[in-house]
Amino acid sequence: MSSESKTSVDVVVVGAGFAGLYALHKFRSQGLSVRVFEGAPDVGGTWYYNRYPGARCDVESVDYCYSFSDELQQEWTWTEKYATQSEILAYINWVADKLDLRRDITFNTRVTGAVLDEQRLRWTVSTDTDETVEARFVVMATGPLSAAMTPDFKGLDTFGGEVYHTAHWPHEGVDFTGKRVAVIGTGSSGVQSIPIIAEQAEHLYVFQRTPNYSVPAGNRPLTAEEIADTKANYAERRRMSWRSGGGSPHVAHPKLTMEATPEERRAAFEKRWELGGVLFSKTFTDQMVSLEANEEARKFYEEKIRSVIDDPELAELLIPNDHPIGTKRICTDSNYFQTFNRPNVTLISVKKTPIESIDATGIATSEAHFEIDALVLATGFDAMTGTLAKIDIVGRGGRRLVDDWVDGPRTYLGLGTDGFPNLFLVSGPGAPAVLANMVLHAEAHVNWIADAIEYLDDGGYDAIEPTTEAVDNWIAECAQRAEATLFTRANSWYMGANVPGKPRQFMLFIGGFGTYLDICSEVAAAGYKGFDLLKVP
Ligand code: FAD
Ligand code: NAP
Repeated sequence: MSSESKTSVDVVVVGAGFAGLYALHKFRSQGLSVRVFEGAPDVGGTWYYNRYPGARCDVESVDYCYSFSDELQQEWTWTEKYATQSEILAYINWVADKLDLRRDITFNTRVTGAVLDEQRLRWTVSTDTDETVEARFVVMATGPLSAAMTPDFKGLDTFGGEVYHTAHWPHEGVDFTGKRVAVIGTGSSGVQSIPIIAEQAEHLYVFQRTPNYSVPAGNRPLTAEEIADTKANYAERRRMSWRSGGGSPHVAHPKLTMEATPEERRAAFEKRWELGGVLFSKTFTDQMVSLEANEEARKFYEEKIRSVIDDPELAELLIPNDHPIGTKRICTDSNYFQTFNRPNVTLISVKKTPIESIDATGIATSEAHFEIDALVLATGFDAMTGTLAKIDIVGRGGRRLVDDWVDGPRTYLGLGTDGFPNLFLVSGPGAPAVLANMVLHAEAHVNWIADAIEYLDDGGYDAIEPTTEAVDNWIAECAQRAEATLFTRANSWYMGANVPGKPRQFMLFIGGFGTYLDICSEVAAAGYKGFDLLKVP
């Protein structure tokens, strides 16, 4: 029976992306009643919305998929090393159908508030369709990268042409043939879409504020042999991923960067370059800790990139020099830098000549006016906290989560926070989250929450809530670990630096996926150390 009409359930899950869908499946199989609310008309989350040309995963397809069911792993066959958005969305839909998930999901419905009844330890969840549901547990699977950000460009609303945000791309696609197009933003979304838009557009203007490190994906079709081999060895592949630093089965070079001979170093960088993309920052274990080691990786990178850009002046503009390599997420591209060799592509450095305004016909910088027909905003997200901040979450004593987090997010293990019993976060701040393969990360969080619920029930408890001390200690530990790395040197979205006025705080646990999972397991094994286990009086 569908729970769509139930007004009281064990668990409300917010979001039907990778995380919310697994949460529904897991909690349902524990015998809990679950309602999922999803703002979009269908499942998929990130992969429902981000349909811009060139959108793909940057974790290998065979790793960026659910591990909890070997049946799913064996039945689904990925066609490329890095799957396209449409293939990932097809996979998510296939899983939703196979596990009969849709009947408990209410689509086109945004959760607007969640208020705690402190006496009964129950949450009342309200929606923009004027529904209210009571739940013992609320699980926020709202996504770390699901609040798209549009900068406040003066005059943006006066632009007479088409405007698109990469994170809200039209389903029917966009044909830029014969058009003058501007892309603002050169993060992963810009870097993936720019080469394809350039092929269509009459002229493409790329507005770059900060140059980004991008490593070629080396994308290609998977061979029948590779697929068979992966399927035969999935268990081992996953075992390595669970123990790894970032949720995929690749191991860093056994030596530290400067311990390796120059030949060994170069061979290691070459091997990672061939692997493609974001994992380049993990060639050696000390690369994100030691500036000297990082500099070796950066020099190798620079040499590679210079070799594919025809104009040395352009190369100067495109190669980053303001942050260590990897301290912002390395982009994963297909022919990004080569695109700037095309005669129909112009790079505009917004650092040198800032965007002053947008008007009916185009973009004015401090130096020139660019007439365009279409504008693509690849300007990113209010990451980690932006989506949660849109929900009015009210905990103990009428405290609002947004107020508690005004100086930066506060969590214990990234899973919950003090004052908000039975409110769980999936892939929230304080977890490795976006530093890891997010599908495995979502599974790990949901499994931990499911175990905690079982523990409460077995012990006759009603609720679980982090202590203030545990939250304070965890934030301090996350900060301390981050300070010991190079990550805090970049103005990244990890630091909240991309959103004007956002507190500057490294929002993730940097100690590695495997290490983090060990900590979470130890906490559980010690009777949920750092949490209060509560009974309704
Ligand atoms: P999401 O997929 O973001 O889903 C959250 C859902 O919650 C959304 O559908 C949203 O509509 C819904 N929601 C939010 N608020 C509300 C509300 N108030 N009421 C109702 N519904 C709500 N990660 C990787 O590990 N590897 C990759 O290769 C990778 N590639 C990416 C590419 C792009 C273009 C982007 C933007 C991100 C990428 N990521 C990648 C990160 C990606 O976000 C995660 O991998 C993963 O898809 C997140 O799943 P999720 O379910 O946690 O969140
Ligand atoms: P992003 O990395 O935050 O990039 C946004 C870009 O817009 C940056 O170049 C930024 O410049 C620029 N920008 C923002 N505000 C601006 C302004 N006011 N004026 C001029 N430029 C401005 O966002 P994203 O590219 O959408 O990627 C976000 C994350 O999503 C990635 O890091 C990754 O985790 C994930 N993602 C992954 C993939 C993939 O390959 N699988 C693809 C897309 C996204 P600054 O750098 O100067 O701030």
